[in-house]
Amino acid sequence: MDRVKRDILIAKADIDKRVQELADVISRDYEGKELVVIGILKGAFVFMADLIRSLRVPCMIDFVRLASYGTGTVSSGSIMITKDIETPIRGRDVLVVEDIVDTGLSLSFLVDRLKERDPQSLKVCVFLDKKERRKVPFEAEYVGFDIPDHFVVGYGLDFNEMYRFLPDVCVIKE
Ligand code: 5GP
Repeated sequence: MDRVKRDILIAKADIDKRVQELADVISRDYEGKELVVIGILKGAFVFMADLIRSLRVPCMIDFVRLASYGTGTVSSGSIMITKDIETPIRGRDVLVVEDIVDTGLSLSFLVDRLKERDPQSLKVCVFLDKKERRKVPFEAEYVGFDIPDHFVVGYGLDFNEMYRFLPDVCVIKE
């Protein structure tokens, strides 16, 4: 795997600093409250693990897994939940945590499904945002980094299930 060339786009030190900044803002926004933090598997697990350990508000955690299907290499926009959360969220303050928002299809689908369960509030925190790639309007309340349209790996993000373990966010060179 190390024969694949990659450039560092966001270094670990910058990630650590930004995650702490996000956690500070979120802790302030939810002061005195208790959160249900929902991570989207698998990509969000590294970011979420760092984020919750920097929060100063108590939280429960849960995970959801999504799959998109359709024909061809481009997602048709059909998304389904393949692993649901096990925590009731009615009346709770919910924070969805995702690795990256690209077309916006996954998160807009998930947010709609979760809102049907009547949470007290629901916000989204994404580590990376490729705003220029949206197919549907979607804006996360908390964004780690805006990035250009590159395929990135590391810090939880994969390419064919590899590279999630990298501490930096990298761009694979063709
Ligand atoms: P969306 O529904 O917003 O198009 O898709 C978001 C999902 O696409 C992410 O959770 C992630 O799995 C995948 N994705 C989008 N861009 C990238 C990328 O640059 N790198 C990786 N590893 N996954 C990406």
